[in-house]
Amino acid sequence: MKPGDTIVVATKNAGKVREFAHAFGKLGMNVVSMFDYPDLPDIVEDGSTFAENARKKARAVGEALGLPALADDSGLEVEVLGGQPGVYSARYAGPEASDARNNTKLLDELSKITAASNRLEDGMKLLSEARFVCALALYDPSGSTFTEAEGYVAGSITDKPRGDGGFGYDPLFWLSSFHKTMAELTTEEKQAISHRGAALSSLLKKLKA
Ligand code: IMP
Repeated sequence: MKPGDTIVVATKNAGKVREFAHAFGKLGMNVVSMFDYPDLPDIVEDGSTFAENARKKARAVGEALGLPALADDSGLEVEVLGGQPGVYSARYAGPEASDARNNTKLLDELSKITAASNRLEDGMKLLSEARFVCALALYDPSGSTFTEAEGYVAGSITDKPRGDGGFGYDPLFWLSSFHKTMAELTTEEKQAISHRGAALSSLLKKLKA
């Protein structure tokens, strides 16, 4: 891929489109998204890993359009739950899942675990170590090749939600270095440390190498 080439971002999330368009625009590439191709069918995310889901979405869109396609998949892994909710993060609370229901379900599951791992920090009760994960896959249909990267941000799960920013599990995700939850960070602070940002800079390094 080179400056002037077109890349399609395989997401309908406007925030992600903006972030990816900014990064690939800096490389001189023309970025389009699923908003430009509303008739493409939704892709079922039934992989057992984030990377598998990202590859599946990138390949489906790349093959359908004959363009290099970038896809991501992300979620939360909680240590004392053996890495759950993982690839099920978006629908952890079931078919009627919402961010609020997913957070309630997470606290319910954690309340079933012995309190041995609990610790206090800044008056916050921390129930488990956790991390957000983001897998990125860029599929080039001209050679049927993938370039892939992953990014992570480590934190802990609190026993009470705090903050109004972000989305998903952010209000329960405690960052010791900020003395705040992810939902209490500004958008700029979150972008600077996020799993998506880390995955993107790792992918860009691979593309420039
Ligand atoms: P997706 O990869 O954007 O579909 O995200 C899957 C799910 O993971 C979301 O619905 C959220 O529950 C969770 N998730 C992913 N990234 C974040 C984040 O930055 N903050 C909070 N939750 C996230």
